[in-house]
Amino acid sequence: MKLAVFDDYRLGVVQDGAVVDVSRAIPGHDSDPVGAGWWIRLCRDFDRLKPALSDAAATGERKPLAAVRLRAAALNPGKIVAAASNYAAHVEEMQSRAAELGLAREAASGWMAEFGVFLKAPSSIVGPGEAVLLPQDRVQARKEIHHESELAVIIGKGGRDIPAEQAMRHVLGYTCAIDVTIRESSDRSFRKSFDSFTPIGPWVVTSDEIGDPYGLRIRLSVGDQLRQDVCASDMSVKIRDIIAFVSSALRLDPGDVILTGSPPGVGQIADGMLMRTSIDGIGVMENPVWVRKAR
Ligand code: MN
Repeated sequence: MKLAVFDDYRLGVVQDGAVVDVSRAIPGHDSDPVGAGWWIRLCRDFDRLKPALSDAAATGERKPLAAVRLRAAALNPGKIVAAASNYAAHVEEMQSRAAELGLAREAASGWMAEFGVFLKAPSSIVGPGEAVLLPQDRVQARKEIHHESELAVIIGKGGRDIPAEQAMRHVLGYTCAIDVTIRESSDRSFRKSFDSFTPIGPWVVTSDEIGDPYGLRIRLSVGDQLRQDVCASDMSVKIRDIIAFVSSALRLDPGDVILTGSPPGVGQIADGMLMRTSIDGIGVMENPVWVRKAR
């Protein structure tokens, strides 16, 4: 099932180029994005709510996708946990570019080469069609600001100390994300958490529909230039092991987002560009890039 948040924070099921409003099947649904407890409960209770959602999808109001405003496919998650250094070819490209990017080589070959996770601020989330805003001071200082296209995992049932063998049962579904990153020496969470630095969408495809996520192909193009193109099977640390690793330290809650790491091909974004992220079996998300003027 493809779950979309659209217009006035309605819940939709996407079918054949249309979105069907199924909000009435969600107990306590409301249109206030603050809190958005209904989304978190949906993530937790999807298995139980699925029959009612299917019924509502068969009879609800249908609108063409082109006629609605899609919102981010993650509403007020408690946290975004992001994997670093999870594709060997991306680690290599960062090592070879360390000097150009003004990073110490030992930094690029040390912490940067090792798998780990970090947190991004949920306030950095934007939806499909929304602009990624580059801070004017970093643009003027000629800092490189990069796109990292990533497969995003949305957590269904939460838990702590989740064993790897059971981890996939905690996955509600998958969507596309971009982990926008300023290449500078400030704290990693800070330089990746500027407002608008985490586009997520266009919708969540539930894991029962995806099946094996390692068949998914992740692509990002800028204009007509294909920059990132990888199969999720190239991931070094697989989703089940990321969930086990994270939940050994941080409780995972329903609705939490896990970004699974960037494939190779990261590159500079600049004012006026249009990023197009796509994952086969999920969908396409487009985000323009603008400079946010300093006040
Ligand atoms: Mn990343």
